[in-house]
Amino acid sequence: MRRSGQNKTKKRYVIVGNGVAGVMAAETIRSIDPKGQINIISDESVHFYSRCFLPHYIQGLLPKEGLSLRNPLSYQEQRIILNLAERILGMDLKRQLLVSRTGKRWHYDLLLLAMGAKPISIKGPHSHSNRILTLRTLKDADNILKTLRDVKRILIVGGGMIGTKLTHAFQQLGFSCHLLVQSDRLLSQSLDKEASSIYKNLFGKVGVPISCHVKIKEILVWPKTGKILGVMTEEGEKIQGDLIVICKGVMPDLDLFANTSLETKRGICVNNRMATNFPNVFAAGDVAEKGEFFQQASSLIAIWPEAAEQGCVAGANMAGKNSLFIGSIPRNTFNLFNLPCISAGIFDASKEGDHFDSIEYKKGVLYIKLVFRDECLVGFILIGNIIHNAGLLLASIREKVPLRNIKDYLLDIILQGDIEPPKHETFL
Ligand SMILES: Cc1cc2nc3c(=O)[nH]c(=O)nc-3n(C[C@H](O)[C@H](O)[C@H](O)COP(=O)(O)OP(=O)(O)OC[C@H]3O[C@@H](n4cnc5c(N)ncnc54)[C@H](O)[C@@H]3O)c2cc1C
Repeated sequence: MRRSGQNKTKKRYVIVGNGVAGVMAAETIRSIDPKGQINIISDESVHFYSRCFLPHYIQGLLPKEGLSLRNPLSYQEQRIILNLAERILGMDLKRQLLVSRTGKRWHYDLLLLAMGAKPISIKGPHSHSNRILTLRTLKDADNILKTLRDVKRILIVGGGMIGTKLTHAFQQLGFSCHLLVQSDRLLSQSLDKEASSIYKNLFGKVGVPISCHVKIKEILVWPKTGKILGVMTEEGEKIQGDLIVICKGVMPDLDLFANTSLETKRGICVNNRMATNFPNVFAAGDVAEKGEFFQQASSLIAIWPEAAEQGCVAGANMAGKNSLFIGSIPRNTFNLFNLPCISAGIFDASKEGDHFDSIEYKKGVLYIKLVFRDECLVGFILIGNIIHNAGLLLASIREKVPLRNIKDYLLDIILQGDIEPPKHETFL
């Protein structure tokens, strides 16, 4: 007789994606289920690495090995079967079967879709030029490095985290570059106007122009040779450049699910257990559309720490536990010109209405902003040698600690810190 909760057969777990969401899920499953068979499938041919440090790799601050986040032996030790260079092209969710481009097949009992997202590009006749690039993978980074050999002026399109980090890397390498931003300011998803202007000024000091409110109308190409000349903006301005790197954000690639009844919107819809509308199919990381921490609406928040946490939650639930994801808190960290910054949550109280209130402090390039909704902290921006306070602030947001009545005291505590800035991001 079988005792309750004991299953003699091994569960077959299949995870598509060897990024942080996939790896965290696999390791969580193994920590709960010592017997199950775990397969990770990835279309990349390299082991798990940090995408966040790709700009540092391009800048030459890190060797290729420095990007690596797992020793290949650790997969063997945990008995996780890694299938590299296998792209899943077919999926039958009813028969619980996946097929790769090479014809390999995997049957699963539980499936995790952790396929990340792909960069948004500018569509047009020249989008396949090797002088119009995006940055998502190590292969993309190597492509950029190869192209840099004979480039004179680089146009970076998109003033988000990746575009800004990349512009900094190119500038530090001595390239002439120009950052083109569609919104009203640099890093508009992470910083308010004040904070954004601090970094814009730093770029200005080293001669990097940043143009805001720029919409690209077309990419200019020399017709005979196909050589990239620059871009034409909607306002009719020509901006010269012979390499264009497009950093306009990412979107999940949902083509694979077009003929399935998996529920998708902009990403794969999941509940707070990271489960999809198929009871044995889960999704996590950049591909998943999930509830936001501050409101019930679902959203795509494509950041590393969220992908890691969602991977853990999905893995635990796949292995039979009941684990809940509390919702995504947008956050970003970077260190440009040796000036570190961390922002998290809601940072623009003026846009949000009556229940919001904020406190700010600015001295030179040091900047602190704390945003409250009712009694609780809901967001912050820290710039300077004070970023080590971010962990505490983030925990206060998560735990909804009522801090508004002591906001001046909180500001004092943050200002008391004076530590050396970290060399690279330490808070992800
Ligand atoms: C240059 C850069 C800098 C960044 N900087 C930061 C930062 O500072 N802070 C931060 O929080 N986040 C940053 N991010 C975002 C962060 O890296 C992502 O949020 C995170 O990697 C998402 O992890 P994931 O596991 O969901 O997806 P991914 O890491 O993209 O992994 C998905 C994997 O699935 C594979 N895959 C996809 N489709 C298939 C298929 N059909 N078959 C087989 N395999 C498939 C992909 O090749 C990939 O290996 C940065 C990203 C980039 C590119």
